[in-house]
Amino acid sequence: MGPNILDKIIDPLLEWFDVHARELPWRENPIPYRVWISEIMLQQTRVETARPYFERFVRELPDIAALAAVPEPRLLKLWEGLGYYSRARNLQRAAQVILERFGGELPSDLEELRSLPGIGEYTAGAIASIAFGKPTPAVDGNVLRVVCRLLECRDDIGNPATKRRISEALQQIYPPTRCGDFTQSLMELGATVCLPGGAPRCEACPLAEWCKARQHGSAGELPVKNAAKPRRIEEKTIFLLRAGEQIALRRREDQGLLAGLWEFPAVPGNLNSAGALEQLQKWGITCRNLADAGTAKHIFSHLEWHMQGYLADTSETLDIFTWVSLQALEQEIALPSALKFFKSVLLTKFL
Ligand code: SF4
Repeated sequence: MGPNILDKIIDPLLEWFDVHARELPWRENPIPYRVWISEIMLQQTRVETARPYFERFVRELPDIAALAAVPEPRLLKLWEGLGYYSRARNLQRAAQVILERFGGELPSDLEELRSLPGIGEYTAGAIASIAFGKPTPAVDGNVLRVVCRLLECRDDIGNPATKRRISEALQQIYPPTRCGDFTQSLMELGATVCLPGGAPRCEACPLAEWCKARQHGSAGELPVKNAAKPRRIEEKTIFLLRAGEQIALRRREDQGLLAGLWEFPAVPGNLNSAGALEQLQKWGITCRNLADAGTAKHIFSHLEWHMQGYLADTSETLDIFTWVSLQALEQEIALPSALKFFKSVLLTKFL
C-alpha cells in the first residue's frame, strides 16, 4: 500500500491540525485516563453527543480508583443515553484490573492495553499514541476513508485484512515525534473535511495536492464497503404497568444484549389490545384500563426492535416484577436507550 503518498502527508496534516483541531474537553488535558474514557465513549457515539457525558463522567469519577469503586447502578446512570452499556461495565472491570495488575496506572504497552476488558486494537492504538506518544496507528472509519481516498484504494473496508493493511502502511510512516497529534489529525480530517459520501470538502483539505481520489473525481465512490447482512427485526410488545405511583420493571438476563439492565416487562410479537389484555391475565394482573402508548423503533448493530407499547393501570404490585417510583425511574435507574421513548411517555404523563 502506497507509503510514497502517505509519507508526504505528515507535515501538511500536522500543520493543518495545529490550526484547525476542534477544542474538545479530552484534548485539554490528555492524561491517559481521560484519553481512555473519551475513546471508549466515542465508539458508536458522535463527538457532540459524547462531550457533556465525558465532562460529567470525569467530574464524578476523576481517576481509575474512583471508576473501579463506583457502585454499578451509579456507573450505568452516568452512562445512560450513550447506549452499549457493556462499554461502561468493561471500563469498570478494566479499572479494577489496572489497580490489581498495573499499580493503578494505565499501561503504555500496546499488548498490555489490549489485554484490558473493552480495549481492542483501535482503542489500544489510540491510547498508546495520544496518551503516551507512541507510533501506533488507530484506524477507525474516519481514517479508513481518508487513506482509501488518498490512495484510491478500492479494497472492501468491511474486510479486516483491509484495515490491517492500512494500519501497517500507516505504521511505516509515523513521525518520530507528535505521534498523538498525527493520530488525531487523521481522525480529525476524516471527521471534519474528508466527509462521507459525496461530501468531502476537498477545497479545504491540506492533502488535496496528493490525493488520488480528488485527481480522478472518485471520492464519492470511496471507501468501498460491501453490503452488510440486513439487520434482523424483532417485534416486541412493551408494558408500562402502573400501580398507584409504582412502575413495574424487571432485569434482563446476565448474558447477551443489554445484559443485566432494567427494562419494562415485554413479550415478543406485536400484540393488539386484546392480545395485550390476554398477556396481562397470563401474568395474573388485573388491568383497570389499557391504553395505547405508541410505537418506537430502536436500531442495534445487527438487530432492530420494533416496539408497540401499552399503558395499563393495576391495583396490585405482583412480585413477578420489581416496582419502583417514578422519581427513581427518572433519577436513579439506568434504562437502555432503546426504551427511552416509553420512559418519556411515562414521565410526561404521570410526573
Ligand atoms: Fe478527502 Fe478530498 Fe482531502 Fe482527498 S482531497 S483526502 S477526498 S478531502
